[in-house]
Amino acid sequence: MSLNPSRRQFLQAGLALPAAGLVSSSAKLDTAALQTSSDKIVYRTLGKTGLKVTGVGYGIGFTPVTEVVARALDMGINYYDTSRDYGDSEKIFSGVLKGRKRDKIVIATKSPNREKAKIIADLDRSLQELGTDYVDIWHLHARDTPTSVPDEAIEALEACKKSGKARFVGLSCHDPNRMADFVIKTGKFDVVQTTYSYAIGSYYRDGAIKKLHDAGIGVIAMKVVVALTGLNLKSFDNEPRTTGEGPLAGIKWVLKNPAIGTTVPFMTSIAELEMNFRAMSEPYTPADEKMLYVLNEQIRPDYCRMCYQCSGVCPKGLPATDILRYLAYNDYCGNYHQGLANFKNLSQELRSVRCSDCSTCAIECPNGVHVRDRLMRAQDLFA
Ligand code: SF4
Ligand code: SF4
Repeated sequence: MSLNPSRRQFLQAGLALPAAGLVSSSAKLDTAALQTSSDKIVYRTLGKTGLKVTGVGYGIGFTPVTEVVARALDMGINYYDTSRDYGDSEKIFSGVLKGRKRDKIVIATKSPNREKAKIIADLDRSLQELGTDYVDIWHLHARDTPTSVPDEAIEALEACKKSGKARFVGLSCHDPNRMADFVIKTGKFDVVQTTYSYAIGSYYRDGAIKKLHDAGIGVIAMKVVVALTGLNLKSFDNEPRTTGEGPLAGIKWVLKNPAIGTTVPFMTSIAELEMNFRAMSEPYTPADEKMLYVLNEQIRPDYCRMCYQCSGVCPKGLPATDILRYLAYNDYCGNYHQGLANFKNLSQELRSVRCSDCSTCAIECPNGVHVRDRLMRAQDLFA
């Protein structure tokens, strides 16, 4: 199905519209009054790498906003995450890095490939795009099952490390429960980047994250901000507060966990950056807890918690968790391109499935997600 541009723009905006409203209200903040100082920066040690990284890092994403990235560097945020398969992300980031001290910045990027030669070639291309002769962390991107990490991929990581072009190696995954034992058993990984947020919850993630941390593996939390909405929090607790502080509370929630080395929120405005920055030094409060509780209930029908309990349930073979994640890139991160790029990687057969053809859905989500409705939205938006 193809969409006319106005229909596509309408769908793309969807849930993201209230979030955009929040950003603009935050943007009214006097940024001069938010000048930061080094005592607001809190470093954490990233597992056995020994790297001292700021608790709030930066997810460069597909479409980095250069002035926001530059401001983050000026403020002292030292951890930056990107990927070989994020379009021109590395190249755009390199423009911001020019003239800065390389050894003060921790750069992580990733390869989407599985073959040894391609992973090694990807690193060379990343170095070229980034304008540096080494990366601090070289990840295998999006490995959610051990079979997605063949022996030759591990051999490639070892070769990259041995060459000095990658100081440390890791993988990113959306379900650490399926990967933690494998990562520890191989003994070849220094770090793991994984999904972790108040919305996903402690229940699904804390055990695996602790296991990795205890084994000396540095853990980087991604998708830490689940931002929206037009919710009127004042009516909930009679305290004047803006929902724009939801991302701040969300990052504070993540940083409560001492096993987390850093976080990589995607940020598109200086106001958003300066708010998130506070998460390093401000305490997590009962007011934050209340806010996140309300936000969590509000997003319940729409936001997949990535518990993977519906894996293999759809008789047509749809990977519901993955598609709901692609949709979340648009609806919760304002990152349409990332969602679309992921959707396009599905087979033609899966891309042509239409959930509207089913009268009922075989998936009953225990977390209250309206799976069929959400998949239909993803299919309208991306297919
Ligand atoms: S749709 Fe529900 S069951 Fe499936 S992964 Fe998401 S939260 Fe879990
Ligand atoms: S609506 Fe049908 S095609 Fe879509 S996930 Fe449910 S069972 Fe699968």
